[in-house]
Formats: sequence, C-alpha cells, structure tokens
Amino acid sequence: MKPRVAIFEFGCCEGCQLQIVNLEEKLLDLLDLVDVVVWREARSEHAEGPYDISFVEGSITRDEEMERLRWIRENSKILVALGACAHIGGINCLKNFMDQDEVRRYVYGDKADWFPSIPARPLSAVVPVDYAVPGCPIDKEEFLEVVKALALGKTPPIPNYPVCVECKMAENVCVFNKGMVCLGPVTRAGCNARCPSNGNKCIGCRGLIDDPNVNSHKEVLAEHGLTVEDILGQFRLFDGYSEVAK
Ligand code: SF4
Ligand code: SF4
Ligand code: SF4
Repeated sequence: MKPRVAIFEFGCCEGCQLQIVNLEEKLLDLLDLVDVVVWREARSEHAEGPYDISFVEGSITRDEEMERLRWIRENSKILVALGACAHIGGINCLKNFMDQDEVRRYVYGDKADWFPSIPARPLSAVVPVDYAVPGCPIDKEEFLEVVKALALGKTPPIPNYPVCVECKMAENVCVFNKGMVCLGPVTRAGCNARCPSNGNKCIGCRGLIDDPNVNSHKEVLAEHGLTVEDILGQFRLFDGYSEVAK
C-alpha cells in the first residue's frame, strides 16, 4: 500500500504547490511513491482522512483556520509544513508589526468587518509539526526528496548548516564585499546558495538553522560596521513571527 498523501493550504499565494505542479514529468515519480488523495489544485475529489502524510502550505491568519489545522493534525500521521509561510510564518507575518484593524481596512476597505483575522503565525504555533520543506517558494527537487524519504520511513534530508557553506562551495564572492547585508551565515542551506550565486544577498527565506552561530554573524556584521539591530528588519521579511513570539 502506498502512503496516502494530502495537500492542504491556508493563507498564502499557493506558490509552493505550484512548485509541485512544476515537477511536470517528475510528478509521475511522485505518484509512483505515494497516493495523493487530497490536492485541491490538481484533483476534484477529496478523500476522507486519516492520511499518512499531510503537506500543509500557508500560515494561520483566522480563528477558524486553527480548528481546521487541528483537524488535519488529528487525521495525519505525519504533518509537514510546506514553504516559509507554513514553516516560519513567512511574509504574512509582516502585518503583525502593523495595526491589525488598519491592515484589514487597507485590504478589504469598507468590508473589513466581514473578514475577521488574527496576527499571522506558522503552523507550529498551533499544532506540533513533524518536518518542514523550507523556502519561498519551496525547491521542487527538495520536495521530491522529502517525499521519497518519508515514503521509505526515513527522516527527510533537510540541511542544518548555513547558506554560507553552499555559497563558499560555489566559490562565490561574498556579497558583504559588495556592500550588501546577507543573512546567509544563520540561514538554513539547501537552496545551493541560490541568491548569492546570482549576485544577490540571502534574505532568509529558509529560516534560521537550529542553534545559529549568532556570534559569528555578529562578527561578520561588525566587520562591516553593522549591528544585529541594523538588520532586524531584514529578518522580519520571512521570520518576523519568531521575533514577536520571543
Ligand atoms: S512560502 Fe512563498 S511561495 Fe510558498 S506559499 Fe508562502 S509566499 Fe507563496
Ligand atoms: S554571507 Fe552571504 S554572500 Fe557571504 S558567504 Fe555567506 S551566504 Fe555567501
Ligand atoms: S539564498 Fe537565502 S533567500 Fe535565497 S533561496 Fe536561499 S535561503 Fe532563500
């Protein structure tokens, strides 16, 4: 029996699911491994739970979403956060630093009262999460590797070292030397240092590694005349929830 897989979404752009669709012919590899029984973007029929593996995209921004997420958790042997919104809160959490009523009015105008919302949060703020596929959007190949590992009962191969490691292996010129502020020293690798390899700074879409070497990052910043406070705003782009949650 192939594992029964469900894919759900909450508040997000659904770009991570689009990455799965972008697997194109490799989708057949995916379907060889698992039976996808819930996937609104690709199937019209939704099978009842329980599910072996649920991939959940998006962050939680409404009270009723918490109920739905708890139901998914209760009906899933393994729950995987799919993408930065689900994993760390992502860009939705930017609104947490603003006046919530003002944000609602800005988005919904005079219909703001029809759409009650709460400060955005990652899945892990509501239910236990077993694994995450990081990134904004996720890397489709990494997603496939995660599915393969889970289907074989293994731990998904998500790196726990910083982007700098991949960046140095790629022999990139450090963007700090070009006057940019890069979050690579504390951000989880696995993207092959995509942004620095293309001349850009890492903006932290894969979230912090476990036990980031903050002192080392502070030293790098100090060498360039910067402090952590100077770059807090950059962390807020994807990982603002962790700052609010502290
Ligand atoms: S992580 Fe990025 S691409 Fe994925 S759903 Fe959120 S905003 Fe969209
Ligand atoms: S700080 Fe950024 S650009 Fe510099 S080595 Fe690390 S990841 Fe690469
Ligand atoms: S380099 Fe940083 S911002 Fe770019 S994809 Fe990798 S983790 Fe995300």
